[in-house]
Amino acid sequence: LSEKLQNVFKNLRSKGRLTEADVKTALKEVKMALLEADVNFKVVKQFVKDVEERAVGQDVMNGLNPGQMVIKIVNEEMVKLMGSETAEITLQPGKAVTVIMMTGLQGAGKTTTAAKLAGKFKQKGKKVLLVAGDVYRPAAIEQLQINGQKQGVEVFSMGDKNSPVNIAKAAMEHAAKNDFNIVIIDTAGRLHIDEDMMAELIQIKENVTVHQTVLVVDAMTGQDAVNVAKTFDERIGIDGVILTKLDGDTRGGAALSIRAVTGKPIFYAGMGEKLSDLEQFYPDRMASRILGMGDVLTLIEKAQEDFDEERAKKIEQKMRKNEFDFEMYLESMSQMKKMGGLSSILGMMPGLGMGAGKMPDIDEAAAEKSLSRTEAIIYSMTPEERQNPSLLNPSRKRRIAVGAGVDIAEVNRLVKQFEQMKKMMKQMPGMMKKGRRGGGMF
Ligand code: GDP
Ligand code: MG
Repeated sequence: LSEKLQNVFKNLRSKGRLTEADVKTALKEVKMALLEADVNFKVVKQFVKDVEERAVGQDVMNGLNPGQMVIKIVNEEMVKLMGSETAEITLQPGKAVTVIMMTGLQGAGKTTTAAKLAGKFKQKGKKVLLVAGDVYRPAAIEQLQINGQKQGVEVFSMGDKNSPVNIAKAAMEHAAKNDFNIVIIDTAGRLHIDEDMMAELIQIKENVTVHQTVLVVDAMTGQDAVNVAKTFDERIGIDGVILTKLDGDTRGGAALSIRAVTGKPIFYAGMGEKLSDLEQFYPDRMASRILGMGDVLTLIEKAQEDFDEERAKKIEQKMRKNEFDFEMYLESMSQMKKMGGLSSILGMMPGLGMGAGKMPDIDEAAAEKSLSRTEAIIYSMTPEERQNPSLLNPSRKRRIAVGAGVDIAEVNRLVKQFEQMKKMMKQMPGMMKKGRRGGGMF
């Protein structure tokens, strides 16, 4: 999607001024791109209409660059489409227990996401109970137990001989007796929407007080995800959606349509298989991501979770001022593993992310090996050289190569890569300077 849109915008950019007809032509292409990205047809129609109304209106008459104006409006309307604000799973006040039921089709990511969520709530100081309510899928209970253990969260299970309703009821008693704040019920899915599944979910809701019914859908299924959301909302009523596998979604169709079709917010986005790969869903960042700008803010935020605030701030500041140096390069490398590996990082870099539709296939082991050679090279530099790479003349480079036990060509390559990276960062000054809201991206 993003590649297509970028072309449309490139054409707009190259024109000085736009006529109404130009806006119409551009929007026709936007429309095609959205449809190809599997965005719901009705949503596309309304979207294009909204953008056109604004673009052909007085804004463009204002003497602004019309190309910029259209991009800005498309971005803003995308944000609006996805709900504008971040949405949270609503918790009961104080220490009262909140019951969250995970629903969705088989393989959508319910069990994984239940454990991811449990970890998030635990981090916030909540006492969380995971409930193994999928008694059909072989090994479903064990999967939840393993994940619960990884998160340090208790898992309530009664094996697979009891009905999910009875398990849920017993879990509630257990939670009340032991002062749990949050109960997350994992449920069974089917490959397709079917009556038994719906009946079971309704039955659970009739027997225990479910405060938040969360639907888990696979972003990669595009339109299907939207249809599933619509049906679940009509049948059992959902409070919000968690969109999983956004890391593998190259189109963005589900993300763009779900809110508009169901009226329900997207709470979180699943960004990978690891239990830490769950991110708050930010409509503005998602819009930028879809527009192919990459999501540097999420990258920074993820970094903040892993290293201490101060270091992250320093890096952010340096990035803003374009003072990226080898010291930071070293630091960011050593944090990379913690942050979920190379592929996860690259996915967030502008031009490489989901929008571009070509997530690089990375040989992690080889990449790691080359990382440690890179580290060795940087360690062989003096602090001055790290902070001021322009000092690196041939004789210094030779000394460094000897120190690191590598060929001088490798040192040269690293310096070159570093310059490229720096250049790339320079190319997104708008993003860096204008700060946090998506509207400022352009
Ligand atoms: P369930 O049947 O709905 O409980 O789905 P599971 O939790 O068992 O997940 C199905 C598969 O999807 C597993 O292999 C998960 O590791 C994978 N998965 C879940 N969420 C994500 C995600 O956000 N990104 C990726 N890449 N994989 C995910
Ligand atoms: Mg499951």
